[in-house]
Amino acid sequence: MNQYYIGVDVGSVSTNIVVMDSMDNKKLYETLYIRTNGQPLESLNEGFITLKDKGYCMEDILGVGVTGSARILVGNIIGADSIKNEITAHAVAAIDTYPQVKTVIEIGGQDSKIILIRNGVVIDFAMNTICAAGTGSFLDQQSFRLKIPIEEFGDFALRADEPVRIAGRCTVFAETDMVHKQQEGATKEQIVAGLCEALARNYINNVAKGKSIEAPILFQGGVAFNKGIKRAFEQELAAQLVIPKHFNVMGALGSAILAKETVRDTKKKTTFKGFDIMQRKYKLKRVACQDCPNACELTEVTVEGEIAAKWGDRCGKWQK
Ligand code: SF4
Repeated sequence: MNQYYIGVDVGSVSTNIVVMDSMDNKKLYETLYIRTNGQPLESLNEGFITLKDKGYCMEDILGVGVTGSARILVGNIIGADSIKNEITAHAVAAIDTYPQVKTVIEIGGQDSKIILIRNGVVIDFAMNTICAAGTGSFLDQQSFRLKIPIEEFGDFALRADEPVRIAGRCTVFAETDMVHKQQEGATKEQIVAGLCEALARNYINNVAKGKSIEAPILFQGGVAFNKGIKRAFEQELAAQLVIPKHFNVMGALGSAILAKETVRDTKKKTTFKGFDIMQRKYKLKRVACQDCPNACELTEVTVEGEIAAKWGDRCGKWQK
């Protein structure tokens, strides 16, 4: 009988789910990608229905791990064994996939990260959740505006003889610049290549500012699919980027590995409550913490009558 660990990454753009073999972290039976659309529980439910329809049952699941911006809510409702932040989940997957890794560049739909690793240990990281100019959603918008399918964006960039220079420090400047260059007669190929270079420069000068980027460098997140961005990074950094096989579900993969480690270390059975998450009654409430002058406003989730978690604190007091 096959047994599995499930990893979930519930982000603001997508909810990714992987089903990992219990004996082999490199063997993934399923990789699901579902649009979150502001409804993390509904999107996870959609994924779990797919897994049930494919014949997975609760008895075969040895553990479940959750990461992503909605991890505390989702993790408590489904009874996850491990609930960890995105930096930890991405780093764990990167180290498991490529033990020599020293730098992880991760660019997703809404944010980007850099993680520095030495001897298998995270020594530094940074995350950008504010500037959209360096994320996948900005590329999506531009592919729509230029009428180029996003899957072909990379090929367009690679065909350019000479990229034009696009200002990459913010979306408004970048878009204005692109329109201006189009009016001056630049080809779509040159503009797309210029945009890829702008995104790589933006990342290096903002997210990675002051960080020592050393090879081997893993490039993960949905944007790693874009060959134009990969080439732009390689030119800027004068180094090769390695794209792992499961580059677009590394957060979910890391969560599955973390669940496996948690279950193994605690020697307990999984706390996973099953695939029928919408049947679980939960309530969200705003509460104030009065324990110091910060007076943080917290979100409290009650699952089936019991307070399961609170989040929104500045000090980590209520985190698991
Ligand atoms: S959650 Fe922490 S920082 Fe916020 S009010 Fe309570 S003790 Fe202070």
